[in-house]
Amino acid sequence: MNNLTMDKIVNLCKNRGFVFPGSEIYGGFANTWDFGPVGVELKNNIKRAWWKRFVQEDPNTYGVDAAILMNPKVWEASGHVASFGDPKMDCKKCKQRFRADTLVENHSKGSVSAEAMSNEELESYIQTHHICCPHCGGFDWTAIRKFNPMFITSRGTLEADADKVYLRPETCQGEYVNFLNVQRTTRAKVPFAIAQIGKSFRNEITPGNFLFRTIEFEQMELQMFCKEDSSMNIYNQYKERALQFVKDLGLKEENLRFHDHDKLAHYAKAACDIQYNFPIGWQELNGIHHRSTWDLSRHQEFSGKNMQYVDPFTNEKYIPNVIEYSIGADRLTLALLCQAYDEESLENGETRVVMHFHPAIAPYKVCVLPLQKNLSEKAKEVYSLLSKEFMCDYDEAGSIGKRYRRQDEIGTPFCVTIDFDTLENNTVTIRERDSMEQIRLNINDLIDFISKKIKFN
Ligand code: ATP
Repeated sequence: MNNLTMDKIVNLCKNRGFVFPGSEIYGGFANTWDFGPVGVELKNNIKRAWWKRFVQEDPNTYGVDAAILMNPKVWEASGHVASFGDPKMDCKKCKQRFRADTLVENHSKGSVSAEAMSNEELESYIQTHHICCPHCGGFDWTAIRKFNPMFITSRGTLEADADKVYLRPETCQGEYVNFLNVQRTTRAKVPFAIAQIGKSFRNEITPGNFLFRTIEFEQMELQMFCKEDSSMNIYNQYKERALQFVKDLGLKEENLRFHDHDKLAHYAKAACDIQYNFPIGWQELNGIHHRSTWDLSRHQEFSGKNMQYVDPFTNEKYIPNVIEYSIGADRLTLALLCQAYDEESLENGETRVVMHFHPAIAPYKVCVLPLQKNLSEKAKEVYSLLSKEFMCDYDEAGSIGKRYRRQDEIGTPFCVTIDFDTLENNTVTIRERDSMEQIRLNINDLIDFISKKIKFN
């Protein structure tokens, strides 16, 4: 829909049980969201579709579910602990965050070494040289803050004994530390990938825009371990596979684009985002990164374990390159909510809000509706039959038209209505969400009919 706003999506989500503000009865807790009965089904279906495509259907990918709390040394190896000290400033105008030392170095074209400057010196340099925000051109900076990107907690029963522990800010370290375990137990040969879906936590300075940037979110990602000579090829394949996946789920081609990075981390060989045209503009949906041998080399250095792979045919020993593909489950859920939302003008002059989800990710596949309350016994029988196969809703309150609208608003692809003929001949009316067409089917044929329509290939 052209004039879609984030407010419309937020309102629908709150009113229809997709997503509620976190801890709402206490006035909320900024940038946390709770998935409700409909939203949890939607997000689970998205995660299942991702796992099916990238793990179940790929003989070279193996899943793990690693611990959120990891040995703190992991975060030294990853570089997250060292980056604690980075001096960060926010542009008050566009809310973008920058490293003050990078602003100074870029402005001076490298002639000033900002590394050794104190915060006061950095701030004074930025003021004197009138360094503007590289994003919006504004000149309205916050003071420098040393910002900690990781949430810190502690273990141990007594505060005094407490050891600092971090909530993971990314899931991928769980794959790197299990590289040897997975390779040994599966006897996988390079190239192979380790995949994971799990929660990450980031103390974001500028969270917001509903599910787009939160402080707690789920990532679906995989790390492909490969030999250097095939790595660029594999990187390009993942760009295409990542794009195809979101298109297959329902994101429209005209709302998607690649964004290749010009600036790369010093170890990276290539990096690309897929961007989606959200109501807030074009923004990153997922990332594909060529991370060279950086991650395994760092873990070898910090753990003292040999992270080399031994080629079983040639006996060659080497540290594999890593291609990372990572997508936020919540951010993708938001994109799919935006894409699915539609307000249709009907012939009778009414407007209906309808969520055109791909049936495979629709929260409920079918809703069972008795035409009148005295048909509820038969309707519950049908519900009991269908709910063994699919996530089903049941609704006997209000006019049939209103009940259809409610299901349209949560994107249920089929409604099954039980009427008096059902008692006579065992047939029901099945209504399709998008076309609103209705056909008559025998109850015995329902499971087969619906199963074929909701497949995700
Ligand atoms: P961004 O530039 O948006 O901060 P990033 O480059 O830090 O993202 P990655 O670390 O590559 O992101 O994470 C991979 C994916 O995880 C992102 O493409 C996005 O879908 C999701 N993601 C990252 N941070 C958040 C967040 N704070 N809230 C929701 N999803 C997130």
